[in-house]
Amino acid sequence: MAKKVAPAIGIDLGTTYSCVAVWEHDHVEIIANDQGNRTTPSYVSFAQEERLVGEDAFHNSAIDPLNTIYGVKCLIGRRFSDPSVKEDINLWPFRVLVGANDRPKIVVNYKGEEKQFSAEEISSMVLMKMKQIAETYLSCTVKDTVITVPAYFNDSQRRATKDAGVIAGLNVKRIMDEPTAAALAYGFHKIKDYSKPQNVFVFDLGGGTFDVSLVNIRGGRFEVKATAGDTHLGGEDIDNRVLNYFVDEFLRKYKKDIRNNSRALRRLRSACERAKRSLSTNTVTSVQVDCLYPDIDFCCKLSRDRFDDLNKDLFTKCIELTNQCLKDAEVNKSDVDIVVLVGGSSRIPRVQQLLKEYFGDKKLHRNINQDEAVAYGAAILAAQLSRQGNDMVNKVVLSDVTPLSLGVDIIGDVTSIVIPRNTSVPTKKVKAFTTTTDDQTTVAFKVYEGERLQASKNLLLGMFEISGLSPAPRGVPSIDVYFKIDADGILNVSGKVRSSGEMSKLTITNEESWLRKEEIDKMIKEAEKYRADDEKHKRRFDARRELDNYAYEMRKNVRNLDLLSLVSKSEVKKIEEGICEAISWLDLNEAPAVKASKSKLCELKKICEPIVTEMNSQK
Ligand code: AMP
Repeated sequence: MAKKVAPAIGIDLGTTYSCVAVWEHDHVEIIANDQGNRTTPSYVSFAQEERLVGEDAFHNSAIDPLNTIYGVKCLIGRRFSDPSVKEDINLWPFRVLVGANDRPKIVVNYKGEEKQFSAEEISSMVLMKMKQIAETYLSCTVKDTVITVPAYFNDSQRRATKDAGVIAGLNVKRIMDEPTAAALAYGFHKIKDYSKPQNVFVFDLGGGTFDVSLVNIRGGRFEVKATAGDTHLGGEDIDNRVLNYFVDEFLRKYKKDIRNNSRALRRLRSACERAKRSLSTNTVTSVQVDCLYPDIDFCCKLSRDRFDDLNKDLFTKCIELTNQCLKDAEVNKSDVDIVVLVGGSSRIPRVQQLLKEYFGDKKLHRNINQDEAVAYGAAILAAQLSRQGNDMVNKVVLSDVTPLSLGVDIIGDVTSIVIPRNTSVPTKKVKAFTTTTDDQTTVAFKVYEGERLQASKNLLLGMFEISGLSPAPRGVPSIDVYFKIDADGILNVSGKVRSSGEMSKLTITNEESWLRKEEIDKMIKEAEKYRADDEKHKRRFDARRELDNYAYEMRKNVRNLDLLSLVSKSEVKKIEEGICEAISWLDLNEAPAVKASKSKLCELKKICEPIVTEMNSQK
């Protein structure tokens, strides 16, 4: 590849689709994949001979549902015992097992062997694909990137996403919140017009997650006032509702339960998703799957009203969270200037109708590209962080908030909040704690994230201990606990005894919960191995294809009667036999070694020489 300064890219790593963009020639370019599509399915498929990512993996999902992985954004940074993980597993055709320290492990069969992958590794494969798409377009190696996550992602989910980027060989310059990126995409070209502050409400309903943010824009300053959401609410949940409805219908009509038939479920799910999209423009559609069950073609109508009814509580939840976000931002809905709709699922008419009823018709802004806005905003920030933007890019100042409260447990399993939710980040806060018994020399803290007063009901991020305190009556020693959140929204915690100055540091790369440095290093090596495997396969495939193309081209030529009259009969026979032999060889060898294909090609070229010479002389 030609050497040139590698531009930084923005990647929207979505549950169902991902999108990559770059800042170049003073504008953002959304980069199309090898099929010409501007978004790429976040799918990875482990076929018998090769690993497929993106479009090819998506197409393979109906053929090989057990080894085609999707929706891992619902797993990343979560524990196996998380109830939402259990729910997802029940609906996915592929297997997920509990791994060490309660981490989910995805199980596939690859090249005849059982393999287990973490959600970070599968996500890294999607990220690597997005990196490759950018590299092909830019003709250079790409490293620096901004990856977006739902604003409502917690500390573990953010960390895990960053790890996935590192495993993919990327230098993750920033983890950016999706609604902030969308607000930037919306407001970037209006920076000059915003001398007066504007309240922009971003409503982002994607494939697997829902996020809302109230962003105040003034000049180039984008200040998030509050955020709310649900990391498990999106198009996939909507598809599940429709899927369950039709599985029940099938059972009722044909007395057959397809719940344990992964292939049938996969095919019915795809039909449900298509029906859902169709209902965004039509009031009635049909769900049709030929041979869903041996000898049964399934066809059933679905009206928009029924669809709305099946998803009523999910849509209501979106409005409840909208309400909560405005309340937290202390902004009245009448003070919202514009509502920006992002995420594929925000196209659903009932969702838009509920928003119209809530905010009033005029405020809904649908002109932004719902599927590309997040990557667009990420590319602007990537350009700024790598100093590759223009004056407009440099004018942008972003200020995010932390989505969830962070604190430690105190006596009685009570949460003592150190950083309340919706605090601007980056931030650093300190809170003083003390001992609970006389002569206590060690104090242990558990760090939690969440809104519950009962500490153990929140998410445990990690633990740390301060030891070696001088014996003193309870309540006398003073321990300062520092919470620092960086621009990626990732937390670092440390503690200090005020009298001795002894420091105890906890970086939440918790030994038990998430990936340790050595594991990440191991995964980077594995990822390189997989990439090398893929490239090896590609080289084999290219060499085989060259032989295949040549053999079929020659078969066509040898049937050309004009040419035949010029070549002797015995030569024609020899050529026909040679072609036939090459085609049979191709049929028997699905993935031959490069050398073998090349030598076969050489052999065939020699045999076909008389006919090629004639063809050239006729040109
Ligand atoms: P995103 O994560 O933003 O790419 O959104 C993907 C989700 O949007 C998927 O669940 C799609 O099924 C859904 N989606 C895309 N287009 C439509 C549409 N026209 N109507 C309803 N849902 C859609």
